[in-house]
Amino acid sequence: MQTTKFQKRLFGTNGVRGIVGKDLTPELVVTIGEAFGTMRKGCIAVGRDTRTSGETLAKAIKSGLLATGCDVVDCGILPTPALQYIIKGQFDGGAMITASHNPPEYNGVKIIEADGTEMGDEETLKLEQLIFDLSLSTKPWEHVGHEVNAPHLIRKYIKSIINHFPHKIGSGMTVVVDPGSGPACITTPQILTEMGCRVLTINGIMDGTFPGRLPEPSSEGLRELAELVVSRGAAFGVAHDGDADRAVFIDENGRFVEENQEFALVAQHICHQKKGAIVTPVSTSQMVERVVKNEGCTITYTPVGSIYVARTMRSLIENGKEVVFGGEGNGGLIFPDHQFCRDGGMTAAMMVFILASNGQQLSALINKLPERFLIKDKISTPHGTKVLEFLKKAYSQDKMDETDGIKIFRGNSWALVRASGTEPIIRILVDAECHEEGQVFHKELMDHISAITKKYIT
Ligand code: MG
Repeated sequence: MQTTKFQKRLFGTNGVRGIVGKDLTPELVVTIGEAFGTMRKGCIAVGRDTRTSGETLAKAIKSGLLATGCDVVDCGILPTPALQYIIKGQFDGGAMITASHNPPEYNGVKIIEADGTEMGDEETLKLEQLIFDLSLSTKPWEHVGHEVNAPHLIRKYIKSIINHFPHKIGSGMTVVVDPGSGPACITTPQILTEMGCRVLTINGIMDGTFPGRLPEPSSEGLRELAELVVSRGAAFGVAHDGDADRAVFIDENGRFVEENQEFALVAQHICHQKKGAIVTPVSTSQMVERVVKNEGCTITYTPVGSIYVARTMRSLIENGKEVVFGGEGNGGLIFPDHQFCRDGGMTAAMMVFILASNGQQLSALINKLPERFLIKDKISTPHGTKVLEFLKKAYSQDKMDETDGIKIFRGNSWALVRASGTEPIIRILVDAECHEEGQVFHKELMDHISAITKKYIT
């Protein structure tokens, strides 16, 4: 099965994003609200992350929705997966004001369907068309919508995660949580505390200027978290991105757990319990495929983007397949018996469960995973599509996959070359069995791409 990627004009892989006041204005967000309200009738849930522009833009989207006759329930500040969980089956759709991992000057809109998943490409293209045509059905005074506030709904999300695990499974475990001043300040520490853990927090006060670290949970930004984990003798540290749909980990020695290792560890645990398919983008390390197959499960690859993973999981299940887990090699994991979107809070809780069930330290579990060497690189060029065409011909003798960009296989290694849909760059990812093999493959590709851009493209 293949999920096809559509090129959109306004929406990227994760909704509309931009610098507030420059690319993303309240006027645009009102129009997005009007367009969404034109497409979907009924009651729409709205939420936002902690960004300083969140209040303005939440008011803008609500204004557009109300003008088209939709009723609005404002859930306040909460993680994106919390809003998605609240929407699932209870609302006619939702809108989340967030720019996820982007710096504080950014914000965005993510549109959510009634089943709690992000709006798919085909519907998003229809939404974009309404925005560009200004084909908006605003209502007269007697038919505009009403708004209520419901900040208490976040409790439903917290409870759903806690109820997923044995009572107080985290008793005796110390965990340090770094919500990065984002909306997980009011979810993850609470979830882990109610699971029985002793929880310490850093960057635990909501602040849209992100004074402690940037919303992207990079290993450099998590040094203070790592120090705290070691000094307090914690079992692990967990950090979220700006809207807490992703979670990344620090082991008990203060070492950053590479996200593919995190994915492989959780996949291994789930596949040990349940048999079925794992769904992930073509960019995920082969380490995950190895542990999944070792446990007797299968793997299905999709284009890059969590929406493709979530929708493929749904469609496999609709076709009678057992799907046990999904996600990306960036800390965005999807638990299908919870909901079909990435969920950072659920991922943090799952780590408590894995460590409590295994009785081993996180570093020991990570060290047992198959070794792989990842090299990430990029080249600036406006000719991404052409470069890919040339590469396809040059490597036509090699085994190749074209689910997203081109993935070239060589022995036990592979390289993925993709042209960005939003920036004039080509992204190169090499996943190799050993360091030398990866370096050779990487250099060969980089040389090849620069030769193509110099020789054939002026
Ligand atoms: Mg995010």
